[in-house]
Amino acid sequence: SSAFPEGARPRVLTLANQKGGVGKTTTAINLGTALAAIGETVLIIDLDPQGNASTGLGVDRRARRISTYDVLVGEATLAETIHETAVPRLHLAPSTMDLLGVELEIASEKDRALRLRDAIAALHDAKVGGRAYTYVLVDCPPSLNLLTINAMAAADSIVVPLQCEFFALEGLSQLLKTVEQVRGALNPHLTIHGVVLTMFDPRNNLSNQVVADVRQFMGPKVYDTMIPRNVRVSEAPSYGKPALLYDLKCSGSQAYLRLASEVIQRERALRAA
Ligand code: ADP
Ligand code: MG
Repeated sequence: SSAFPEGARPRVLTLANQKGGVGKTTTAINLGTALAAIGETVLIIDLDPQGNASTGLGVDRRARRISTYDVLVGEATLAETIHETAVPRLHLAPSTMDLLGVELEIASEKDRALRLRDAIAALHDAKVGGRAYTYVLVDCPPSLNLLTINAMAAADSIVVPLQCEFFALEGLSQLLKTVEQVRGALNPHLTIHGVVLTMFDPRNNLSNQVVADVRQFMGPKVYDTMIPRNVRVSEAPSYGKPALLYDLKCSGSQAYLRLASEVIQRERALRAA
């Protein structure tokens, strides 16, 4: 149970998969944009030292004076890091390369795995245009390190992007085991929100086979919406824009809008349960 009233508390969704290049960052940016486009108030927290979510949302390195690094080492509040983006109601807490050293710096702190959770809790009364955030999306690095553990400990739910390629399921059981461990030790209410299949190519037999295997293995946890492989989606970050601003009509943008509705539907169902 939360310390502050329901409704004021954002839903925290962590995008996690220890494989690189599966679509975590792309999904954070475009799901976040799609949620904002349909009226939610969204904060994306960049927890990857690579900072691709920050760059992809147009916040370049020189502008990142205060970052999630400062938050994790206890030298800034999350509110102090926040940037507006070109998308109304979508904000960003950027990362820097300093995050590479954070694990060592806080290794001996008792609350080292709960730093992000506590920072998000302290944010609960930060308002955007008079409204609190309704969704917080956390973009993770491609590993199961202390950064990802912080992101899982802070989350209500995990969203797992899986790329539709041959080794999609490899590593998934290790990811699920880590979620179990975080649930047991740090965050008893943590759930898997869903698995999102990314870079789907309907003309590719392998892609279709992977979809069938993942749906068999993960059942209804897999979102109906699949994100197609779409060149517009991969071009958008080099313009510092979400795909939805770069080309709203492209198949990738349209899929992320459908995914956002599905995420909201699942949230309603979870809350009603
Ligand atoms: P991760 O954050 O898991 O490392 P990214 O989101 O950075 O993965 O995606 C890896 C690469 O694949 C990036 O170059 C990105 O632009 C590209 N990509 C992601 N999703 C799509 C898509 N739906 N269609 C085409 N390219 C994509
Ligand atoms: Mg990434």
